[in-house]
Amino acid sequence: MSIKDNLKAIKESIPSHVTLVAVSKTKPIADIEEAYAAGQRVFGENKIQEMTAKQEVLPKDIEWHMIGHIQRNKVKYMAEYVALIHGVDSLKLLKEINKQAKKHNRVIPCLLQIHIAEEDTKFGFDENELSELIASSDIKQLTNIKIVGLMGMATFTDNNQQIRKEFKQLKSLFEKTKSSFPDLSQLSMGMSGDYKIAIEEGSTMIRVGSSIFGSRN
Ligand SMILES: *Cc1c(COP(=O)(O)O)cnc(C)c1O
Repeated sequence: MSIKDNLKAIKESIPSHVTLVAVSKTKPIADIEEAYAAGQRVFGENKIQEMTAKQEVLPKDIEWHMIGHIQRNKVKYMAEYVALIHGVDSLKLLKEINKQAKKHNRVIPCLLQIHIAEEDTKFGFDENELSELIASSDIKQLTNIKIVGLMGMATFTDNNQQIRKEFKQLKSLFEKTKSSFPDLSQLSMGMSGDYKIAIEEGSTMIRVGSSIFGSRN
């Protein structure tokens, strides 16, 4: 199937309130152009330099989402244009995003990454760290960022029960966190292998790469 057909099939299978982020990391410009021609406007990348190189040459109405782990010294390259940063996992990083956003007179929307998987290789806050962050006076002073939701990645496993359990935990934390962040509306969870379960468990944003563009090397 073509990129266009893949997109169409996924779009038709998901509810209209769920945003599809087309994860184009490692894929060439031509692939993104094909998705764009099929109407896709939201793309996700996991490396800031790669995303910026693509942003420079592609149409300016594309919404670029940073979905990967972020090095603080690279935030400056995307501060001018990034539409949403999914993987925010420390207060230090939030402060840097705030600083760079200020230079461009912007408020950058961010998602806090929550550690839900069993593997300890995946980044993110645990529940206690999230509570601490919410309680800290520092975060209230960051007027050039806006926390609009949470993001998480389930364990890489074939065990659907396990995946569902982790998404349920994240959804429950999302509901609890709403009282602290008035703008909390987005729950980014679900990838090619598990987005159907994620949507059943309350995802509002899925990050899908290989099911659209084919497998990566
Ligand atoms: C690569 C990536 C995805 C997409 O993965 P697929 O399995 O190709 O859909 C989603 N989220 C993050 C954070 C990623 O790095």
